[in-house]
Amino acid sequence: MTVPDRRGDTHVVLDTYADTGLLVAIDLVNRLVVRPENVETRAVLAEILAVDPPSVHRLAPRHAAGFTTLAGQLRPVLDDLRTGDEDTAATRLNKLLATHPAHPHLAVEHGRWRLHHHPADTALVPMWSAICAEALARFLANGYARRIGACDAPGCGRLFVDTTRNRIRRFCSTACQDRVKTAAARRRHAQP
Ligand SMILES: [Zn+2]
Repeated sequence: MTVPDRRGDTHVVLDTYADTGLLVAIDLVNRLVVRPENVETRAVLAEILAVDPPSVHRLAPRHAAGFTTLAGQLRPVLDDLRTGDEDTAATRLNKLLATHPAHPHLAVEHGRWRLHHHPADTALVPMWSAICAEALARFLANGYARRIGACDAPGCGRLFVDTTRNRIRRFCSTACQDRVKTAAARRRHAQP
């Protein structure tokens, strides 16, 4: 399925891009490593993990260090994918997957059996380490490695998944895009 975006380009919409583990991995790296925010880590984590309310409920200040370590482990994987070094990314991911294996588990949710990645009582950081590593491994194995991009705006560098058909996305957000556009317009205006 594809939908047009406002530039007239076509966005490729694939389930893989909406993968929770992939999006959480990128958020962790962006918000804890690439552009750390000047707020309590637990608050940042609560926003990142909002996709899974039970995780937010279990989140405690003691988890901050573990998630920061995980973000530090995921960043080089994303950088390898972005620069096309799939071999190194795969080696790193295999190491992470060996340390944090998935634990598929059936549990009743809203009256029906659902397959979960882990039992609900699995320790939070190892569980998300497994979810993120597995998501990135699937992303790589499905041939999407080069769809990891980094924001071109000066001083940003946040990572994103480029879902445009021809991989033309340059910015992490419209805020960065607008900032660069405004600066360019100002430069043009200042020229004699
Ligand atoms: Zn940016």
